[in-house]
Amino acid sequence: MTAAVPVETERSAEIALRPKGLDEFVGQAKVTQQLELILKAAALRDEAADHLLFAGPPGLGKTTLAGIVASELGVTLRVTSGPSLTHAGDLASILSSLEPKEVLFIDEIHRMAKPAQEMLYIAMEDFRVDVVVGKGVGASSIALPLPHFTVIGATTRSGLLPTPMRDRFGFTGFMDFYEPEELRQIVLRSAKLLGSKIADDAALEIATRSRGTARIANRILRRVRDWAHVHSIETLDLDTTRKTLELYEIDQAGLDNLDRRVLKSIIEQFSAGPVGISTLANSIGEEADTVESVSEPFLVRQGFIARTKAGRVATERGILWYNTNI
Ligand code: ADP
Repeated sequence: MTAAVPVETERSAEIALRPKGLDEFVGQAKVTQQLELILKAAALRDEAADHLLFAGPPGLGKTTLAGIVASELGVTLRVTSGPSLTHAGDLASILSSLEPKEVLFIDEIHRMAKPAQEMLYIAMEDFRVDVVVGKGVGASSIALPLPHFTVIGATTRSGLLPTPMRDRFGFTGFMDFYEPEELRQIVLRSAKLLGSKIADDAALEIATRSRGTARIANRILRRVRDWAHVHSIETLDLDTTRKTLELYEIDQAGLDNLDRRVLKSIIEQFSAGPVGISTLANSIGEEADTVESVSEPFLVRQGFIARTKAGRVATERGILWYNTNI
């Protein structure tokens, strides 16, 4: 038996904390306002909403927003992901089962296989899917009409989306990291849903150490709650929170183990850079995609590293942080 994190439990805990309506969704004010207009107009016309793309680092609420869109439109959310659509046939069977105005959510849409991508272009634009029947020279294709539906794509790497794909979305919402005050509200809301009492300063402490990310704020909250349960502490207070953060090696700026390894490697192994992303990822034994979509956006936002034409460099601020904290 391994002592791995029980993924299913973590996932269901996450689902339970998802806001169900736009009014419960904290922050991302621009995106939600823009979205609200699209949804209201679609409802007024009793039509499917335009195709929507949500872009931004993991854990900022892209899946949550997709769920909210479907519930605001009063339709089912059908969920799939780019990596699971390896054959066009996989996508064809999903598309042909869609009901009018339904929402098809495709997570990590930048990782879809080419044939599936091409099928999706036609489905999004002409609401039709071409199915090939027969084999070899006798093969022919039949066009199956589809009801009008909405694709919501989510991507952590919008730069990797081919232009024809990007062009087919009527709206792109760029999700930004959350401010500590917004995360504090998210933590307070989640604590309430979990039935935990939390002190205000403890909620703020979690908020400032969550890398601007809602998922991480909720995750830390759950760990603080574990600590409190195990130590028979009734209210999640600052002391409990700090002890938990120390146990999970989350530092003052919210950097986790991966962030620290990235910063350390740029400074120690590459004399503060510049270093290319693949070389950097290799040096710490991680996938380039993980470093680029998870760690880098946060370190750049903190002003600890910068992206230059020649590669990634550690900034003076990053070096100072490294010298004093790592
Ligand atoms: P993504 O799809 O961008 O990776 P998710 O939508 O899965 O992110 O969000 C991760 C978790 O963070 C969810 O469980 C949800 O509860 C929480 N969350 C995200 N955004 C918000 C928000 N704006 N308000 C409250 N909770 C949020």
